[in-house]
Amino acid sequence: MSDGRDDRVGRERFRPPEHPNDHFLLTTVVGSYPKPAWLTDVRERHEADGTAVNDDEWSEALDDASRLIIGEHERAGLDVVCDGEMRREEMVEFFAERITGYEFKGPVKVWGHSYFDKPSVVSEVAYDDPWLLEEFEFSADVAQRPVKVPITGPYTLATWSFNEVYDDAAALAYALADLINEEIRHLVEAGARYIQIDEPALATTPDDYDVVGECLERIVAGLPDDVRLCLHVCYGDYGEIYPEINDYPIDEFDVELANGDYEQIDVFADGDFEPDLALGVVDAHTPDVEPVAEIEANIREGLHVVPPEKLTVSPDCGLKILPREAAYAKLENMARAARNVETDLDSGAIDAAALRAGRE
Ligand SMILES: [Zn+2]
Repeated sequence: MSDGRDDRVGRERFRPPEHPNDHFLLTTVVGSYPKPAWLTDVRERHEADGTAVNDDEWSEALDDASRLIIGEHERAGLDVVCDGEMRREEMVEFFAERITGYEFKGPVKVWGHSYFDKPSVVSEVAYDDPWLLEEFEFSADVAQRPVKVPITGPYTLATWSFNEVYDDAAALAYALADLINEEIRHLVEAGARYIQIDEPALATTPDDYDVVGECLERIVAGLPDDVRLCLHVCYGDYGEIYPEINDYPIDEFDVELANGDYEQIDVFADGDFEPDLALGVVDAHTPDVEPVAEIEANIREGLHVVPPEKLTVSPDCGLKILPREAAYAKLENMARAARNVETDLDSGAIDAAALRAGRE
């Protein structure tokens, strides 16, 4: 950690006052969550010509949906919550619409019959108004629990855009990383202490791990030490970016491994895993709800890599493609499984040191 962020940010500040166990496996989400059906309906009516839903009504609908999903996360028993990205439709578009220098030139075909409104960078990117401040302030005000803020990472924003200005995607990514640093400063000023950078693009082009590393250095520059920075990378060949990620200036690395039945967990089990591990323990791609006992076994996989005080429990990825009741049931089972594993750690029924040493 080259910039002085030497003290890993403790998770204790996120432990709820009524937490029942000595051990604390922080439970949270990656970010996105299924939208209520009515929200999609209201959005379509708001976007229609001769609109039947005006801007004030649309804004009220977004507030209501955010309030609803934060409540759902809290009811499921999560320690750190989020609004399920109710205000965001797509992870690149949302930011491109807010960053000076971007322009939309119409949808492009991405696969099969799917279209993606891939944005173009047509002039130097610049920071204008905050992107997420209202979202965070509303969430923090409504939530009883601490709120995590997911932000699409600069490398993903850069590689999933047309670049008409910068020499290459790396140069664009660095410029975007500086803007994200500015955005996080505003969020931190407003009280945010848990930021997650989403870099799904790194999963498909792992050779660029050094570009992402430089982006992260820019993102954390000058941030207070008590800001917890998580990096989420979706399913890919983690062996291509580990152990390199040990040099990243992050507090937590969030991975998708339930989907691959933990075949890759050994990649990390060299005893030197540096950041906290945020382990995906429920699959974000199948609506089948994992039973509590199965999730407990998944959590124990993480204890092969890090001690309990460095293990965070989350779904594999954002849950937005799932039916809402399946998403909720997974979160509820996940929170229950985490509490059960904590109880077993407290009692000694699970020997974390033995798991880590590969003796169990
Ligand atoms: Zn993901």
